[in-house]
Amino acid sequence: MSSEIAIVKYPHPALRYQSKPLKRVDAELREIAAQMFQLMYETKGIGLAGNQVALPYRLIVINPTGDPERKDQEFCLLNPVLSRPKGTEELDEGCLSFPEIWAPVKRAKTIRLNAYTIQGEEVNWEADGMLARVLQHECDHLDGVVFVDRTTETEKLRIRDDLEELEIEYRQNEALGRIPHPERIATQLAELEKLRCV
Ligand SMILES: [Zn+2]
Repeated sequence: MSSEIAIVKYPHPALRYQSKPLKRVDAELREIAAQMFQLMYETKGIGLAGNQVALPYRLIVINPTGDPERKDQEFCLLNPVLSRPKGTEELDEGCLSFPEIWAPVKRAKTIRLNAYTIQGEEVNWEADGMLARVLQHECDHLDGVVFVDRTTETEKLRIRDDLEELEIEYRQNEALGRIPHPERIATQLAELEKLRCV
């Protein structure tokens, strides 16, 4: 497998994939995580999930400040599990897999996180603010859920044309051979899963 990764855009099937917990961490995975941080900063993001780089792994990288200088805010989390949602707050969200699209999403204000770092240390956080929102957005990705699924019906109507534009662009890239066909993507995801999840 090549370790070259790229951010996939809606409606790439990897964005609908239910990712499996990671069982194995190797040098290549660490390299992939480093590349994910790089891609995230290049595209001005604050979080990126495995599914968004067509990897079927429960792996997310986040930096709620979006500032590459703030290494203390950089987290690479494996097999994150969220629990005990408290309160709700509605804010506009965007996503690197949905360029130029923003929509309000209701999320829990505070949330508990259990996960492992890529070094294998267990973390248990009580998260709030931007961190809580990013965690919820990224963990959704791992279950094949995207932020536009969670916005209101009115907002879904408002962004319908933008989504259609992304769909048209995707089909064009597929026809040009820039994106593999769905069966090939499914095979690739299954192979990657076999490599580190079983
Ligand atoms: Zn996203």
